[in-house]
Amino acid sequence: MRYSKADRLIVIGAGITGLMTAINARLSGLDVYLLEKGKMPSGSSARIAGVLHSGARFAGWDDELAKVCFEEWKWWVSVLGKEEKKIGGYFLKTKTESDQYLESWLSSLKNIGIPFTEVENPYIGGDIKKENIDRFYFVPEIQINARKLLNKLLELAINLGVNYLPSSVIQEVERADGGYRISVRNKDTLKLEGFPVISSGIDIPEVAKIFGINVTSKVYQGSHILLNTDLTDLLEFVHKPGTYDLLIPSDLGTFITPTLVPYNGLTVSEEELAGLSQVLKNLFEIEPEVIGYMIAGRISISSPDSTLKGDYLAYTQDTILAWSNNYACGKRLAYAIADILGIKKALTAASLISD
Ligand SMILES: Cc1cc2nc3c(=O)[nH]c(=O)nc-3n(C[C@H](O)[C@H](O)[C@H](O)COP(=O)(O)OP(=O)(O)OC[C@H]3O[C@@H](n4cnc5c(N)ncnc54)[C@H](O)[C@@H]3O)c2cc1C
Repeated sequence: MRYSKADRLIVIGAGITGLMTAINARLSGLDVYLLEKGKMPSGSSARIAGVLHSGARFAGWDDELAKVCFEEWKWWVSVLGKEEKKIGGYFLKTKTESDQYLESWLSSLKNIGIPFTEVENPYIGGDIKKENIDRFYFVPEIQINARKLLNKLLELAINLGVNYLPSSVIQEVERADGGYRISVRNKDTLKLEGFPVISSGIDIPEVAKIFGINVTSKVYQGSHILLNTDLTDLLEFVHKPGTYDLLIPSDLGTFITPTLVPYNGLTVSEEELAGLSQVLKNLFEIEPEVIGYMIAGRISISSPDSTLKGDYLAYTQDTILAWSNNYACGKRLAYAIADILGIKKALTAASLISD
């Protein structure tokens, strides 16, 4: 294994991916530095609605991903216990959409074991055109307090001996034996030597550039779309008050959700946007104006040594790039990185939840 000698990991970015990587590596006996540019973990992980996806949104077009997501969902549910709040995921099919996608979606849910129920007479409020809804499904999804979980993970990381360096700015990197020497401006200026894992979320391309790596990311189906519609109107469309993950599959296999998502500068295909606009037009009286979207990015470089699918990880020029495409994936990435580094998969549910 190429990196078995690495005994210090420098994890850049303390979102869910970086935190889980740092904890796992620390439990495996590595010396770990966790650099964060903010005072606290920020990025997407700190802003999410906290939906632990059941995997249903990936079913029908990426069953492998849906399966892993469902496995992780079960793991998180068992770990989080009473922290979780059960909410629903609601999937709609409009009358103009073909049955083909729905059939493959349902058949995948059955194969994978993701529970679902069809709702015969859903309560639907707001401006939605009920007559255009053909079928309505409920899948069990869980909501967590993401900020609380992040704080807990950070506390655990620090207690385990991870050297957490908030407000860090990387100034310079240079090659050194067994990895890189990284100059970091924190309170002081530090020079750290070790093996870097870049887990800076949508800033991965920017940070990778410092390491001389040019990252190309590709659009990931399942983008979140932000509509120029009042959020409370959108929330009204859901079945029960207090539950709110409304997912609308389109023929292209994408979903929209009433999630407030900032535009992050990545691109979405014309075809995908056209498909989503059509679905929205069918559902609402209004002509929706899409004003922004979030792409859950996958890095398109593959990792030859990982036993997991290459999309989630990459290592080039002796660095690992790690990017999760949903919250649950933090665990998978941590394991995959441990796998690449040849270190023990030591993260246990018990350690994670110890207060
Ligand atoms: C609004 C929104 C809602 C979402 N809702 C859900 C949901 O309900 N369920 C779900 O599963 N997924 C959801 N997602 C997706 C999910 O949040 C992300 O896939 C996941 O949090 C990404 O984690 P990450 O650790 O890879 O990146 P991030 O959480 O973005 O973490 C990256 C970290 O790196 C730091 N950083 C950046 N640059 C540097 C640097 N130069 N030096 C040091 N540190 C740096 C950032 O400050 C940040 O703390 C949502 C995303 C958004 C934006």
